Amino acid sequence: MTIKPNLIGGEWLEGSGAIESINPSDTRDSVGHYAMADAAQMRQAVAAARHAQPAWAATTTQVRSDLLLKTALEIAARKEELGELVSREAGKTRAEGMGEVLRASQIFQFFAGEAVRYGGENLPSVRPNIGVQISREPVGVIGLITPWNFPIAIAAWKLAPALAFGNTVVLKPSQDTPGVAWELFRILERNGLPAGAANLVNGRGSVAGEALVEGVDAISFTGSVPTGRKLAQSAVANMVRIQLEMGGKNPLVVLDDADLATAVECAVNGSYFSAGQRCTASSRIIVTAGIHDRFVDALRQRMRTLKVGPALAAGVDIGPVINQGQLDMVQSYIQTGRAEGAELLEGGQVLERETPGFFMQPALLAGTNDMRINREEVFGPFASVIRAQDYEQALALANDTDYGLSAGICTTSHKHASHFRLNVKSGLAMINLPTAGLDYHVPFGGTKASSYGPREQGSYAVDFYTLSKTAYVGY
Ligand code: NAD
Repeated sequence: MTIKPNLIGGEWLEGSGAIESINPSDTRDSVGHYAMADAAQMRQAVAAARHAQPAWAATTTQVRSDLLLKTALEIAARKEELGELVSREAGKTRAEGMGEVLRASQIFQFFAGEAVRYGGENLPSVRPNIGVQISREPVGVIGLITPWNFPIAIAAWKLAPALAFGNTVVLKPSQDTPGVAWELFRILERNGLPAGAANLVNGRGSVAGEALVEGVDAISFTGSVPTGRKLAQSAVANMVRIQLEMGGKNPLVVLDDADLATAVECAVNGSYFSAGQRCTASSRIIVTAGIHDRFVDALRQRMRTLKVGPALAAGVDIGPVINQGQLDMVQSYIQTGRAEGAELLEGGQVLERETPGFFMQPALLAGTNDMRINREEVFGPFASVIRAQDYEQALALANDTDYGLSAGICTTSHKHASHFRLNVKSGLAMINLPTAGLDYHVPFGGTKASSYGPREQGSYAVDFYTLSKTAYVGY
């Protein structure tokens, strides 16, 4: 058995154990074994990043841009192969896997541009004979912690800006998807990554993840709220700058005047594509009384056309959920919903397919906004319809949540679309579009328990990955 090692200080090193990555579409298929770090190895990686940081910060922006562009081009050139790996490891359909790989390439390309584009400001002082110069400096060593549901895109949108602006990094990917990150680091290395500028450390969150907070200057985390909260507490105790992107309980509002076909496609795409395992997935479909029954009938019919099966099989719309634990959790929420008085309208059953995997028919329930199924993130092919009397009640329900990542509305009324955009309490507002599905050149993040700290992505990423320095120059 080959164990693929961790990349620390330019060397591929064995860990103190191994994790096996299993294909959720076929549990007999082992994607590979990956070295698992203990806390001491994580500290070694942080030290390697610390050692490499001054030299990396001193490179020209052209050198950093070249690394990112070459990485982007190799990712794009290998999109089929890498896309297949994403599908094998994360259970995404072929189109979703390849789409994510192309997105990672676009992100590296974008930050190849940002590396040479970012700058500071020159301002006159309010005092005589003084000039003020504001420049941006790297933060230092950044710890990156990523989840399994976008194993290459999320790694890309943290790694690329961190490196572009002169920081060095340690990435700890999710233990469910170590393989995709491992390939990404091989690509970075082949395209000129200096020793220690980016370090890959696979391992358990509670061991390697926790050790990462000590000794870094900043942490960028994407994952669940409980882990985010814990990390924030250690970050504050260690005076570490932190950015958290966490869960959602995203509403899709459907108004009486919506185009029915558009609303149904927004609901199906937003709730069930990628097996509902997107932080921006619509899990609460809030529908006003005049269209409610027609919409629910049309959505149920459309759901019956969805083909669930092994991620890489032809014609499959919905792949498996990531693992047995996640499947059990989604199933338990169906029971919770029923116990609370929700009605199971469609799907929900565990499916047997030609290969042993974690398949389930997407579930649609009808419930009220106070139920646990509508308060807690489920993170699977699971959504619930909530009836509202009118737009005002629909907006109030949309905002009645602890989360605030994405929120959508389907309507043909300009007045309601504009009012919703301005008044929904979320970081993303989608008009006649699914709640999931984003561009890479604009900021991403939410409100309330969904996000903490500065925004990720686009040119706004510079705010987290640099520190400003203000110089006063007398003349
Ligand atoms: P998770 O919180 O269990 O794990 C995320 C990462 O944190 C993993 O790498 C894990 O190993 C690590 N980790 C776990 N415990 C840790 C600890 N004590 N210290 C340090 N690191 C630790 O989340 P997950 O199950 O991998 O991902 C699903 C969650 O991610 C969902 O809640 C989803 O909404 C969220 N998510 C959010 C976004 C976003 O941008 N808002 C995007 C994708 C996923």
